[in-house]
Amino acid sequence: MHDHRKLGRELELFDTDPLIGAGLPYWLPAGASVRHALEEYLRELERRAGYQHVYSPVLGKRELYEISGHWSHYRDGMYPPMDLGGEQVVLRPSLCPHHALLYRSRGRSYRELPLRLAELGGQYRTELSGVLGGLTRVRAMQLNDAHIFCTPDQAAAEARAALAMIRQAYAALGIEPARYRLSLPGPASPGSPGSPGNKYVGDPRIWDQAAAMLAGILDDSGLAWEAGEGEAAFYGPKIDVQVADAAEREATLSTVQVDFYQPAQFGLHYTGADGGRHRPVMVHRSVVGSMERAVAHLIERHGGAFPDWLAPEQLVVLPVADAQGQAAAEVARQATGLGLRARLAGPDSGTLNRRIRSARLVPYQAVIGEREAAAGQVAVRLRDGRRLPPLSADAALAGIAAHVAVHRTGLWDAAA
Ligand SMILES: [Zn+2]
Repeated sequence: MHDHRKLGRELELFDTDPLIGAGLPYWLPAGASVRHALEEYLRELERRAGYQHVYSPVLGKRELYEISGHWSHYRDGMYPPMDLGGEQVVLRPSLCPHHALLYRSRGRSYRELPLRLAELGGQYRTELSGVLGGLTRVRAMQLNDAHIFCTPDQAAAEARAALAMIRQAYAALGIEPARYRLSLPGPASPGSPGSPGNKYVGDPRIWDQAAAMLAGILDDSGLAWEAGEGEAAFYGPKIDVQVADAAEREATLSTVQVDFYQPAQFGLHYTGADGGRHRPVMVHRSVVGSMERAVAHLIERHGGAFPDWLAPEQLVVLPVADAQGQAAAEVARQATGLGLRARLAGPDSGTLNRRIRSARLVPYQAVIGEREAAAGQVAVRLRDGRRLPPLSADAALAGIAAHVAVHRTGLWDAAA
């Protein structure tokens, strides 16, 4: 695998500036294209699975995080509060408390559940400056997050569906998990829930129940998994999907968590079929984690040769000589009109071989010589070296656009 920091610079995907600060990368146009394609894919995946998208502010009063438990359990990872007109406001370390308040914004009936609220939102954590670098250790990140508010009976099905969605996204992105981990609290006091001085909150029986539910889901899915003691969130156990980086270091990319604690902290309830007040369960889940970590992993995994639907440039149009410049410009324009990220590279940027080499990471190259120009055709070369027989430009572009739309890792091949 490749180091994403090195490739990120070479391919002009992202960078940092000391004047902005350590751990605060910015995204250059090529990197922003990849991220944008990923964000669009995720929103569509979620929308089709019945999620509703929301926006919430990246700031909140300190009191909000005192209620959620972040202030007492997670304060070391939070930015210091800002004094604002006698109030203390902090940058949020997670989106959960905001979403709990959105749920609470009016009365809820059991008929509305499960209520799936999703947001691609900013969260902020103070990593030590010594460990900052690239897109994996950052102080500001955009999280692909969602909270499912449901009845206790619905929680297992929702967690199962979230795990299935993670696996579907990994197939589209070409990501291979290093392992699945069931993250549990520490094995003995004072680490265990309910014991004095522990860092895990709530009733130990509820923890056992939630852990058993997640273990059952992992077993049913047929995946190999292992338990990770001391890896749970402070409010509940979770399924962590681990990936490895270029240096074989493991990190959590995706999570599914079952939480009985924050609904109680925020006094969440719904009116049941019996007319009584009941406490919902919160399922926290992230399909690919933060955009920063997800794109870092994709860079390393694919070495910059992204699946066609993610590639910063999907098609480069190469006229052999100046005489085909106009035909090539027309094909590039047509491709852009179909929604493809296409670029024209004419003879002014070098010999044909040189232009082909410099576009080696672009999934499709449409070469137009004298014969192709006369016939309204293109000779398509695939990134992996395959060459397709000459095709009408219309057919080639339609085939590529249709392949891009279905989010596969392989390349389109007219013969397949
Ligand atoms: Zn959450």
